[in-house]
Amino acid sequence: MKPSRRQFMGAAALGAAANLAKAEVEPQTVPMEDTEQVGDWTFTGVDAAIAEEVRAFLPPKLFDIHAHLYRNRDLGDPCPALTASGPAIVDQSVYRTHLGALTGENPLAGGLYFPYPTKTGDVDAGNNYLVEQVTQGDLVRGLVIVTPKSSPEKMNEYLNHPRILGFKPYHTYAGVPRTFDAALDDYVPEWIWQLADEHGAVIMLHIVRTGALSDPGNQEAIRRLCGRYTNVKLVLAHAGRGFHAPNTINALPRLMDLENIYFDSAAVCEPDTLMAIVKTFGPGRLLWGSDFPVSQQRAKCVTVGDSFSWICPRRIDVDPSAPACHPTLAGLESLRALKLAAYLMDLKPQDLEDIFYKNAMQLLGIRES
Ligand SMILES: [Zn+2]
Repeated sequence: MKPSRRQFMGAAALGAAANLAKAEVEPQTVPMEDTEQVGDWTFTGVDAAIAEEVRAFLPPKLFDIHAHLYRNRDLGDPCPALTASGPAIVDQSVYRTHLGALTGENPLAGGLYFPYPTKTGDVDAGNNYLVEQVTQGDLVRGLVIVTPKSSPEKMNEYLNHPRILGFKPYHTYAGVPRTFDAALDDYVPEWIWQLADEHGAVIMLHIVRTGALSDPGNQEAIRRLCGRYTNVKLVLAHAGRGFHAPNTINALPRLMDLENIYFDSAAVCEPDTLMAIVKTFGPGRLLWGSDFPVSQQRAKCVTVGDSFSWICPRRIDVDPSAPACHPTLAGLESLRALKLAAYLMDLKPQDLEDIFYKNAMQLLGIRES
C-alpha cells in the first residue's frame, strides 16, 4: 500500500535529522522533489527558485536592521530548537553564508546585530560575544540585551562602546509569571528609557500581549515613553509584532504623530502590515530586517482568525488528496511580502533603497567612508 504523506514524512524526518550536522558549514542543497523531508537550515530547489525571483527585485545594497549573532552554549537549557538544529556558533561569516543563499552574499553590506534572547541563557556571555563580533567589519553595529535586573552602570558602559548603539529588551526577562502578557514597563523599566535617551540610543522592541500594537496598555506606554524620551529611537520589531496584521494596521493612526518610532519587516510574511506602515508613515520608517536565524526556519507566519500561526512542514495539509505544497524559508517569505507590498504600493527604486539600506544608515548615524 502506498504510504500516506504523513507516514512518508515521519520516516523521512529521521533522515533529515541525520543531515542536520552538515548544516554546520554550508546550507545543504536538497533536490526539489525531496522538499517534504527537509527542515530548517537547509536550502532546496524550491527555495532557489523563490530566491531568484526575489533577488531580481532587491536593490544593490542591503543593511539588515535585525539579525542575531550568538553561540548555542550561551542560550541556556534547553537550547531553542531552531538554533540547536543549526550551527553551534553564529558569527558574521556563518550569517553571510546562510542568509547569502537567500539574498546573494554581495548585497549584504551591513547589519545591526544582537544576541539571541532566551529565558535561561547567559545574558552577559551573549552580550560580550556580540561586542567582540561587531568590532569586525565596516558597516557593523550592535545592540546588547538588557533586562530589568541589568546593572545600569554596566549598560551605560556598553553604550560608551562606539559600535554599541542601543538595547534589545525581551519579554521573557519580565518578572511576571506569563511573560507573553507582560506590560511594557515589566520588561523595559523606565531607567532603560532614560539611559537610552541620554545616549540617543535604539531600543529594539518586540511587544507582546494578544493585541500587540492594538493593546491599549501597549499603546499608552509607547505614547507616554516615546513622548517623554524623544532621543530614543524605538524600532518596533516585526512591524510592531504585526503577525496578526489587523493588530498593527488598526493601531497605526493612533501612533502616527510619534516622530521617533520605526518598524522593521523582520519575519513578517504577509504584505498588508507592511503596506499599512508605508501608507501611514511613508517609506522612511520601514526597515528591512532578516531576523536571522529565524530567516532560516522553514515556515510562514500568517494571520489566522483572531491571531497568527507559523505554518511549517508539519502543519501542511497532509491528506493524500491535498495539493503538494513545499514550504520555503521564512526569510524568503518575508522578502516576497516586501516585494508584493512594493508592487501594490507603486514604490519607486529610491523607496526600496531607503527601506533596504538608507533608512538604517540614517537611523544609526552611519556615514559611508
Ligand atoms: Zn529577532
